[in-house]
Amino acid sequence: MMTKRRRSDVSPFLVMEVLEEAERLQRDGIDVVHMEVGEPDFDTPACIREAAERAMRDGKTHYTHSLGILPLREAICEDYHRRYGVEVSPDQVMVTAGTSPALFMLFSVLLDPGDEVILSNPYYACYPNFVSFAEGVPVYVDALESDGYQIRPEAIRERIGPRTKAIMINSPSNPTGVVLDAERMDQIARLGPMVVSDEIYHGLVYEGKEHSILEFTDRACVLNGFSKLYAMTGWRLGYIIAPREIIRAMQKIQQNFFISANAFVQWAGVAALREAAADVEEMRKTYSERRLHLLDGLRGLAFQIPHPPTGAFYVLVNARKYTNDSLSFAFDLLRHARVAVAPGIDFGSNAEGYLRFSYATSLERIHEGIRRLGEYLSSIETRG
Ligand code: PMP
Repeated sequence: MMTKRRRSDVSPFLVMEVLEEAERLQRDGIDVVHMEVGEPDFDTPACIREAAERAMRDGKTHYTHSLGILPLREAICEDYHRRYGVEVSPDQVMVTAGTSPALFMLFSVLLDPGDEVILSNPYYACYPNFVSFAEGVPVYVDALESDGYQIRPEAIRERIGPRTKAIMINSPSNPTGVVLDAERMDQIARLGPMVVSDEIYHGLVYEGKEHSILEFTDRACVLNGFSKLYAMTGWRLGYIIAPREIIRAMQKIQQNFFISANAFVQWAGVAALREAAADVEEMRKTYSERRLHLLDGLRGLAFQIPHPPTGAFYVLVNARKYTNDSLSFAFDLLRHARVAVAPGIDFGSNAEGYLRFSYATSLERIHEGIRRLGEYLSSIETRG
């Protein structure tokens, strides 16, 4: 074996493997409906692209401060103040090349070998890998469909032990689309361990309102980024808000291994926070409409969705009447129905037999996807 243990232990990100197979089919001229990817189909709003162009023209092409340019860190603090009424200072913020590197650096400074991080199951596919790669141990708490996929504070409490370093939450959630209510977040904040809150889907909420963990405690690390809300996946821009000693430890990692996030992309981030509110609202309304159409379509295919999701752009659907092997079923749907979906198993054992549908695609493609699925599912039902 050529690779070290830690490297070879990282499991593949299965949804990317479905996407890559879908793209292979497309190269052979086959039309595929994409409902697997967790990526907005919108182009980045014009005001953000123009800000990047301006920044490039103005020579913002050098390394920046390792924590990120001050105007962006100030804009992030203002954004959290405006949205949640919380006070954050720019020296508690570090800008990174996406939320993913922030997670990577956070767990590398937080965990000693054997330290535990409590995660919900289902979880965002990459979380356990971030924890394990930093030699930590993921400890799972069930978030069941029968509970509306809400993580229960009492269930978390039962899993807290001497090695628990952090509790990780993600609301609105990938893959369930669930938004945690204020009471639950307050209880989680009081359990004792530090809370790591991935708030990357904040702003993409269609009923009710999301809360930041910082409304309930200062002893928390918030991860956020521009990929989803501002349709900026390819720009690679994210950040962490954390207590100063954690920021200082992470800053040293960033200085050594990444130096800084892209300069002109950071200036585009300032425009996103200050100028893109109307564009974001348009996108949010569009997702909201698509969500209702997708839910209707899935129900029309006789999938049960007892607790419709209210955030992010995902619906996690129980497909156990068809399969207990979501990965091969996802590949069957791709090859025979020409619809790409994410296999539940990517998101943990509790999502095995489930499929995650993304509605970050047009209404027309959603209807076409549902039509193709209907045809294929009735064909296997007749056969079966
Ligand atoms: N957290 C969650 C829950 C996500 O769904 C994603 C993207 N799929 C990320 C983090 C990473 O986002 P990025 O690195 O593009 O900021």
